[in-house]
Amino acid sequence: MMFTGNLQLNGHHVLIAGEPRAARRAVARYKAAGAHVLEAHDPSAAERLLDAAHRIRLVVAVDDGNPGWAVLDRLAEGEAILLSHEPAAGAEGSVTLLGGGPGSSDLLTVRGVASLAAADVVFYDRLGPSHELARLAPGAELVDVGKAPGHHKVPQTRITELMIESARAGNNVVRLKGGDPYVFGRGSEELADCRAAGIQATVIPGISSAISVPGAVGIPVTARGISKGFTVLSGHDPFTEQELGHMAGFGGTLVVLMGVATLEQTTAGLLRHGLDAGTPAAIIERGCTDTQRSTRATLGTLAEAARNARCSNPAVIVIGGVAALGDQDVELQSLMPAVAQ
Ligand code: SAH
Repeated sequence: MMFTGNLQLNGHHVLIAGEPRAARRAVARYKAAGAHVLEAHDPSAAERLLDAAHRIRLVVAVDDGNPGWAVLDRLAEGEAILLSHEPAAGAEGSVTLLGGGPGSSDLLTVRGVASLAAADVVFYDRLGPSHELARLAPGAELVDVGKAPGHHKVPQTRITELMIESARAGNNVVRLKGGDPYVFGRGSEELADCRAAGIQATVIPGISSAISVPGAVGIPVTARGISKGFTVLSGHDPFTEQELGHMAGFGGTLVVLMGVATLEQTTAGLLRHGLDAGTPAAIIERGCTDTQRSTRATLGTLAEAARNARCSNPAVIVIGGVAALGDQDVELQSLMPAVAQ
């Protein structure tokens, strides 16, 4: 049995029995749940504390390999004490590159939630479900490595160094990323750097904004009879003429990430290469969050519409027939006064 999540233990006395490093995660978790935590690092200390502190109702036995803890089973027997056995926190440090999805914590994977619950340190930035970290990673130190654009930001090489240093010190490090780590997330570089440094590193996939953010406003990236494929592009740097030619001739859905600053060049280039000005287009800002907003237009009007609406990052741009589908009518209707039945 292992308690995680929303356990409320405000003020209750909990004895955590185990070698300090093995027990550190259980200690952090029960403290975060509001418990008054007493620690016993060896079986005789546990016996003394149980004799002295009559208010202990829950004992957490951390499985650190010490057979002496069997004494707890005997002590708990017959007493009104709950005994919970928990696995030991790993002694070796590791790095987990975690895809956090597009921004809402309930779009994290189950595996992702488990990795946060077991984290000692979380490096995060503004993408992904960062505002819920105190709850999701109660035992972890939270380190913001990506202040808003224009403000001080930790350089990529330094982030990797910090992760490696922290893992070497024995910590379970989670690098929380927006969407999926392998979609413009530097996942492959960070994985290679960690492994080159001899650190055990794994990747947990996440729901990419490229598909989920259009989906959040009802735009499917493919739809039978409209689009039989989609291509996901980075608009961080302006597209070359050759790229624009391929994009204009592709025929499927174009999904552009990091493309707000270069939007004028992109749309002008696609028009120049013959894509129809009437092609449906949309830009969805902060998708899957409380402040999500979508702006609908056509290829010919998208740049101006985005300028007028002062669209900003993070945003996903969709160009293609599918961009005419979805919830736009719902959005318009919700702005109208309710019609009396
Ligand atoms: N690995 C991420 C993408 C990282 S690049 C993924 O798979 O989603 C960062 C870009 O992703 C942003 O500039 C924006 O274009 C897009 N993005 C990420 N989250 C978003 C969100 N919630 N709403 C809109 N765009 C988002």
